[in-house]
Amino acid sequence: MREVRHFENLDASVRFFDTHAHLYDERITDVGEALALSYKAGVDRILIPADSMGSSKQAVDYAARFDGTAGVKLFCSVGVHPHEAKTYTPEVEEYLIDCLNRRDELKIRALGEIGLDYYYDLSERSCQREVFAKQLKLAYELDIPFILHEREATGDCLDILRDFCKRGCLRANPGVCHCCSMSPEAAQEMVKMGFFIGFDGPITFKNNKKTPEVCRNTPLDRIVIETDSPYLTPEPNRGLTNIPEFVPYVCARIAEIKGEPLEQMASITYDNGNRLYEITEDTK
Ligand SMILES: [Zn+2]
Repeated sequence: MREVRHFENLDASVRFFDTHAHLYDERITDVGEALALSYKAGVDRILIPADSMGSSKQAVDYAARFDGTAGVKLFCSVGVHPHEAKTYTPEVEEYLIDCLNRRDELKIRALGEIGLDYYYDLSERSCQREVFAKQLKLAYELDIPFILHEREATGDCLDILRDFCKRGCLRANPGVCHCCSMSPEAAQEMVKMGFFIGFDGPITFKNNKKTPEVCRNTPLDRIVIETDSPYLTPEPNRGLTNIPEFVPYVCARIAEIKGEPLEQMASITYDNGNRLYEITEDTK
């Protein structure tokens, strides 16, 4: 087995916010240890996103159970991913509404992942669009940012978002384009609509030309870093199970692209994470 390259956080005042990590995934076998390693690398804030009713319950449970472990503050989201669109029933919607009404108590900071995925097509496209629109409406009505998952569906995704935007049904802070794989032009349009752009492992991959280009065009105050743990492990640990410990490698690559010192980029993306998820309490 390959050895893990641990990120050396040379300055203990440098802090990172992993804005997207599926900590409940079974590939992460020891969450306590993962959080301890993450904290050691400087990661002291993590948001745990959901993709179904089942994982929404897990995300809420983990954010409660493991909050504060090794010094890491946890938040979560609830929502139905496009893969799971076919499971979106009135009961599921009731559950989401109930959770969102108790957001402070449950530490829920976003609705998501929601969106469209035409790469895997695990739910019918028409069903995906319908469920995406339903949850966009929820996000607006219940006044909460959302986490967008979009893959190979940029055209339809932008059409739906533009429509919401035109009708005045997108918040000023609509949410984040998570693991952005859009073209630089499409990503620009997202920024104009108010979105944050999320970058993760792929930006560190040598053969990836598009994501660095998107990053170059994204204003500093709209960039957030994420791992999407346990997937998309950044270099130099590509191939291993991803945990939030590795988010500094994503930040370091962005710092390189933007020509900013790492400490500066860490601080900017940390503040952006707090603005995205509207976290006002300061536990730094
Ligand atoms: Zn995810």
